[in-house]
Amino acid sequence: MIRADLHIHTTYSPDAEINVETIIDQLYAHPTIKAIAITDHNTVEGYFKARQLATAYTDILIIPGVEISTTQGDIIILGTTELPARPWTAETIIDFAKETSSTTIAAHPYRPYGLGDATKNYALNAIETLNGVSAPHVNKMAEDLAKTLNLPGVAGSDAHNPTELWTVCNEIQASLDVDEILKAVRKGSVRPITTEKSIHF
Ligand SMILES: [Zn+2]
Repeated sequence: MIRADLHIHTTYSPDAEINVETIIDQLYAHPTIKAIAITDHNTVEGYFKARQLATAYTDILIIPGVEISTTQGDIIILGTTELPARPWTAETIIDFAKETSSTTIAAHPYRPYGLGDATKNYALNAIETLNGVSAPHVNKMAEDLAKTLNLPGVAGSDAHNPTELWTVCNEIQASLDVDEILKAVRKGSVRPITTEKSIHF
């Protein structure tokens, strides 16, 4: 079992203030969380920077990812190091994920820029049911949605500044390996949990 945060922003996102160096240092020092997905808005540059810095450390894993602003709402893609072609709609992202065998997550579905009830119209792989900066009732709505759709629920800190790091994570039945982790997420061998650093719980 490993612990992973599947939703982190870096300075490569226009609205985020976390240096990649800070994330890597803290991940290495963290007692239990050893894997993170870098999910910047509409770019994979932060991931490449993180991967490069992480090579100097042992026993940490950077999962490639991106949070795409589609016309219907934000969708996280994990397991891709390439951006999908535009236009970015929920449909084109789902097609891209199928072609590239990557994993899609409805980010904070009931927050602004979330897919909301429209999530039901698209064949996503998982729902973000525990977002580290969302209010509890909004996360509860996402949890209910995941149950209705019979999809795995996952956690993501959605950290945009250093104080928001390490608030939530996932316990995943996998070793420290990107493919294993994403396979486990898709089949629901994942449990979102809050940490002692959680903001809302
Ligand atoms: Zn985000």
